[in-house]
Amino acid sequence: MAGSTVYVFDRRKGSKPEKEITLDDVFSFADFKELIKKEFGIPYDGEFVIATTNRDEINTDETYEELVEDGDTLLLLVHLKQDLSAPIQERVDYQPHYDTIIRSGMYEYYASEGQNPLPFAIAELIDNSVTATVNNVGPRNIEIRLYLDETGDKSMVCVLDNGKGMTTRELNNWAIFRLSKFNRKRQRLNQENNSDEERVIPRSLNSDISYFGVGGKQAAFYIGDSARMISKPKDSKDVHEMLVSKEEFERREKNKEDIYSDVITSRQPGEGSHVSQKYETLHKLIKEEEGKENFTHVVITSIKSQHIKFLKDDFSRWSRILANVYHYYIHGPQGNQSHLSNAMYRTSNPYKNIDISITTYKKGQQHQQLNLRDIVDDLQSKYIRSAKDTFEFKVSLGTGLVDGVLRYHPFLFDKESYPIDNESVLEDVDDETDDNKDKHARGSKAIFKCYWNGRLIPYTLVQDFAWCAKPTKRGNIPVECYNRVSGALFANDQFEVSTNKLTFMDFEIKLSDRNAAFQRVVGDHPQRLKIDKQFTDWLHKCHETHDKQICFIRDY
Ligand code: ATP
Ligand code: MG
Repeated sequence: MAGSTVYVFDRRKGSKPEKEITLDDVFSFADFKELIKKEFGIPYDGEFVIATTNRDEINTDETYEELVEDGDTLLLLVHLKQDLSAPIQERVDYQPHYDTIIRSGMYEYYASEGQNPLPFAIAELIDNSVTATVNNVGPRNIEIRLYLDETGDKSMVCVLDNGKGMTTRELNNWAIFRLSKFNRKRQRLNQENNSDEERVIPRSLNSDISYFGVGGKQAAFYIGDSARMISKPKDSKDVHEMLVSKEEFERREKNKEDIYSDVITSRQPGEGSHVSQKYETLHKLIKEEEGKENFTHVVITSIKSQHIKFLKDDFSRWSRILANVYHYYIHGPQGNQSHLSNAMYRTSNPYKNIDISITTYKKGQQHQQLNLRDIVDDLQSKYIRSAKDTFEFKVSLGTGLVDGVLRYHPFLFDKESYPIDNESVLEDVDDETDDNKDKHARGSKAIFKCYWNGRLIPYTLVQDFAWCAKPTKRGNIPVECYNRVSGALFANDQFEVSTNKLTFMDFEIKLSDRNAAFQRVVGDHPQRLKIDKQFTDWLHKCHETHDKQICFIRDY
């Protein structure tokens, strides 16, 4: 107990404030009792007890050892059952447990629709890189590197970007759980004019997807057991580095050290002397820093074994899921139109400068790289490529803006062309049979996938709106045409999403508000005619023009 301090309230009588007592020369209960007597001027035959605020008496070496800790508040009483002669105040500390950081992802990333949520955890790290590269003048490079053949704590998932990097202050803020952009803004308000221009960006592709102050930490510890953040802002000579690990949290807890205190190391680019030589791949990564003007490298190690298996075995599925999440960031507002020989798309698309790639490193083999832009069969690509016509609209609800698109996938000769969703495993295998496709196309599934600030929010789907739902009364359009429609909604940040970015909070309810104004948009022009009528006209036209059925005529 040497060096410890306790606070003792004398409540035998009176209301004096507490006394701070340092336990430097106290090695037993007898020492402690003597010190108390001295401090409070108690005569040798004075009647008193020393107790915790829970009224447990401290009267032996054992109780002293067990009950008295540094910073505790104690009572001096005549006897244990007496009334307090005046109120007391006890100092308490309620720092969150470090599980807040290392286990939160475990509860946040849940499976839905039969999907493994791991790609969505990786997406949190990509979100940060998309935000960090928004002002890049040249290309925006985001690279996910997988080193999964390594054993134990050498397995790594890295996310590298050439974004703006972090200053030491920003790196410190990175580690603070729940320090959202809103808190940071409040801190800055006096220094800066709040000049968030409300520019209208198509599909809300504003790269503003670093929001709550949880994603990066939550994702890193969902994936592995430690996160090393290595970053260099543009005008800095030095690289800043911070390591947050489960092992270190446990060590601090055991040694009763401050849990949330740490160091940020600043060093020369390429300088790796602080890392043990056994981490060869990490050394190589550190070497790569040389010559990079600004960057952030996120290095997650000790990848959980179930994730290693999924990342290896289901590569094709999860890479397509990511291509779908960032589809419009990668391809621009119109999506993947690489099937059209449209020169405009290929050359001057301002969105074509975001490269998101996945590189897999295997022992003794050449590494393999996949650029998400080269994927042509993620779900959105499939919708876009098989659509024969589109119907664009917008919804406004106060400052809330939603762009929407519907696409028509016709019946072609002997089968429906509505694409099959094999990104989610729940899709019934039976659906793939022609028989089923004939009957259902989209079936009873929701029409709309939903994007927020341009990024897919995977677990929220919007079934339909009154104006595009299957009518109860038979009209002049065959009902199956209503099943041949897919759609996407693009919400701006006036709509809220949950902190794991898996679901919207109340998107569908807000959209069903009677003040929500829906308008068809042709070119860039909102149409005045009512959307119901415009939709049915469009659907009718789609059916007449694009559905093709083989008709067998008996020739007598
Ligand atoms: P969200 O919960 O929406 O992810 P967030 O992005 O603010 O919010 P984290 O993902 O934990 O929360 O990241 C915290 C902060 O660290 C970010 O706001 C950003 O300032 C900084 N940061 C994280 N990753 C990067 C990066 N790759 N480049 C630059 N800064 C980054
Ligand atoms: Mg984030």
